[in-house]
Amino acid sequence: MSSRNDKPRTQSAHTTADTPRDSGRTRPTPGWPSTPPGASGAKETSSRRSLVAVLDPAGRLTGCTSELEHTLGRSRHSLVGSGFADIVRPEDRSALQLALRRLLAGQPPAELAVGLVHADASTVWMSLSFSLSPEKTSVLLDATLTEAPMTNAPESVPAHLVLNEIDEGVLIADATSDDLLVIDANPGFAQLSGFSRAETLGRPLHFLADGNTDRALLDSVLTTARSGTRASAEIGLSRKDGSPLWIRLTLVPIEDQAGRVTRILAIHLDVSERRIVFDALREKHHALTEALESLQKTKEAIVQRERMHALGKMASGIVHDFNNLLSPILGFTELLLTFPPMMEDTAKVTTYLRKIRTAATDGAAVVSRLREFYRTREEAEQAEEFAPTHAVEEILELTRHRWRNEAQGAGLEIALDLDLQPTPLVMGVVAEVRQALTNLVLNAIDAMPEGGRLGVRTYTVGAWACIQITDTGTGMTPETRMRCFEPFFTTKGKAGTGLGLAIVFGIIERHRGRIELESEPGHGTKFTIWLPACLDGSSTGLVQNSGSRHANVRPLRILLVDDEDLFLEVVSENLLGMGHSVDCFTDPTLALESFYKQRYDLVVTDRAMPGMTGDQLAARVREYQPSIPIVLLTGFGNIIRQSGEQLPNISEVLPKPLSQQVLREMLVRYGGSASGAACA
Ligand code: ADP
Ligand code: MG
Repeated sequence: MSSRNDKPRTQSAHTTADTPRDSGRTRPTPGWPSTPPGASGAKETSSRRSLVAVLDPAGRLTGCTSELEHTLGRSRHSLVGSGFADIVRPEDRSALQLALRRLLAGQPPAELAVGLVHADASTVWMSLSFSLSPEKTSVLLDATLTEAPMTNAPESVPAHLVLNEIDEGVLIADATSDDLLVIDANPGFAQLSGFSRAETLGRPLHFLADGNTDRALLDSVLTTARSGTRASAEIGLSRKDGSPLWIRLTLVPIEDQAGRVTRILAIHLDVSERRIVFDALREKHHALTEALESLQKTKEAIVQRERMHALGKMASGIVHDFNNLLSPILGFTELLLTFPPMMEDTAKVTTYLRKIRTAATDGAAVVSRLREFYRTREEAEQAEEFAPTHAVEEILELTRHRWRNEAQGAGLEIALDLDLQPTPLVMGVVAEVRQALTNLVLNAIDAMPEGGRLGVRTYTVGAWACIQITDTGTGMTPETRMRCFEPFFTTKGKAGTGLGLAIVFGIIERHRGRIELESEPGHGTKFTIWLPACLDGSSTGLVQNSGSRHANVRPLRILLVDDEDLFLEVVSENLLGMGHSVDCFTDPTLALESFYKQRYDLVVTDRAMPGMTGDQLAARVREYQPSIPIVLLTGFGNIIRQSGEQLPNISEVLPKPLSQQVLREMLVRYGGSASGAACA
């Protein structure tokens, strides 16, 4: 389609209101004629000709001037009765229809730039102004020829039409006034804020701000816009009725030809709904985070409580074990003290002493097992390789009193079916696995109030180590079976916590294992734990026994420091028996004095001592002789060794009580003899 008058325009299409009008143009008068007046003329472009048409409310042409006929190259016959929109370019039709609708709805007459279609298919550019007859039965259309617009795009719709139609609230402020006074407002703004146009005009641009508005943010966007840069921010304001209003405010500076910002267009997009959802989500998130933290704390407390509960259940057994262990110690020592001649019989005395030693060693083992059981998370529950069979043996020891002695005391029999096949090593926190197994065994015992058989098996299936714990007890109903792993589910009333199995489940999950349950009422229960084998299963993690390395050993000169006389005596007797020379001190200060005077090969010192700790003593010693080996003895030796803590100036830490075997191995490590005269 060619353009009949396509000289470049300097003004955009919707500014046709500024086009100077021909003073002699026919003006509509009340009671318009069906055919507008006008003289005939040539088709050539002339803004002087009277281009007038009359439309009915449906937009059909009921009459037109002959100038219009000529301008469009169409006959009156072809024009009258047809829809005016039909001779308008398709892309301008919706704007035309909108303008007509608004006019008929009683809104002020508007102007519209359109392209009309000439009979030869070329475009005739016109600016149309509409007016409605007083009876509202016809529309007078007064056209002015214009030059071709730069673009035929829909933005040729006048700005105020667009502003009236959009939902966003738009204010136009006078940027030359200090307070950015509002000089125009669209209906969208009234809708949004509750303030009518009349109430809005003349107020400062930010008059919706209230006490909760972020003033700094608002000032910053206003300043940015005044300086000529578009700015945008999400701002909290309030409506006329006081309700909160969240706005995405976009400020568009409008400059005059001299580049001065004279107007600011403020677009208010209501984001209150999204903001409400956002705030609610943020609150939810906050509440959830808090709940999670408190759950975490509760979980830790629960785990500890369940440990204590299980420990409590075993306490009577432990007391019993200890009494058992003390009996031979007490019995034999009393025997020897009461009948001194017995000591002449060395063979007998040696036998008694061996029994005493066994009892004491077992006692130390019980204590260390207990420590393993109740130690807390802070005490470095490090993962290590361990043999499931060992863990099983240990927990059977710990719980033995419950299924053996206590049961017998109550006149029932719980028989142990033990079948420990070797399994691969597994990687994990052995104390946790022990806790899980203990819970299962205690449950099994609880389930056999009349006695029965407790089965404990270990075996291997592919790359899995399996531990099975069975009982011939009451079994579980389907409901109990479904719910037994739930925290706080118990059928034992006050006697239960309902946490045992929940904890078992958590522990096995953490070890990437699984737990299976088979149980029928009256037919007992079977729990099977599957733990993944440690792939690199060659090392056992056990301390190498160095007792065989006896080459190049020699007697050592040892400085031994401990504030306990008895301990000093026992250890020094042993060392002497092995052929070493020992200087003993209960006072570390005196020990240090002696160290400065003598030459020693090895220092063995207690850690906690009044006056000077073992660590302090070690520091002073090393200052004087940096290469000397120093062994620190402590009741917490195992903890220090497990946590891998490196102590300065200390060659190694050994746990108390110190067995002869440990003493020997230590001496060998520092080149000392470990055989000597002492009896094994
Ligand atoms: P609690 O022992 O404190 O009740 P648990 O979590 O250890 O809590 O066990 C939950 C429930 O599962 C028990 O109350 C019991 O009903 C059931 N249960 C667990 N182990 C067995 C079992 N070996 N035989 C029968 N029922 C069992
Ligand atoms: Mg339990």
